[in-house]
Amino acid sequence: PSDNSETSVTTTCSGTSSQNTGYYRIAVFGRSGVGKQSLVNQLMTSDYVGGLGSLQDLSNNEKCVSVLLDGEESTLEFRDLLHEKESISQIPADAYVIVFSVDDKRSFCDARDTVTYLRNDLGSDRAIVLVANKIDLVRKRQVTAADAKTVAVAYNCKYIETSATLNHQVDELLVCVLRQIRLLLDPSIC
Ligand code: GDP
Repeated sequence: PSDNSETSVTTTCSGTSSQNTGYYRIAVFGRSGVGKQSLVNQLMTSDYVGGLGSLQDLSNNEKCVSVLLDGEESTLEFRDLLHEKESISQIPADAYVIVFSVDDKRSFCDARDTVTYLRNDLGSDRAIVLVANKIDLVRKRQVTAADAKTVAVAYNCKYIETSATLNHQVDELLVCVLRQIRLLLDPSIC
């Protein structure tokens, strides 16, 4: 991972919102082709995005938006990163979204390994969301919800099933990520 992008991202994004309650970085990981870009693109069209209206395409792999949730506005920076999963925890982020595709068992194994590395290295104080994408591909499904939930429970992650193509559960993913971040920062809110 390159650190150059991070410096410029922070500079570019700062100041997009004056009433902001938080600026959070979300790292998105997963094998090529699982739908990371498609998911992030759909997230940008969510009803929760807007408010101060600051969608920014920082680069091909980085997008920054204001999100209004529970009466509070936050800025979220999504970074779709290529990585070696062994070094994933060195990438600073407030939340990690680990995506696999339900029609690709290898992508699930990869996601499971990534979650394992993350939890072992970061401990419990960081939000991790395991995302099963492409659930519209019902007949091609190779990974069951039960298998994925087992991993999520074992490593204390949230689990959500999405279809970027159908825009199914994409809002829920956005809400889940932001609520997890806020909860970990202030456990008194639930
Ligand atoms: P990335 O490499 O992980 O960023 O994956 P992309 O977002 O580029 O998606 C790879 C391919 O999967 C593209 O052809 C997408 O149209 C397709 N795709 C992404 N999400 C879904 C989904 O939910 N369902 C289906 N059927 N295809 C998807």
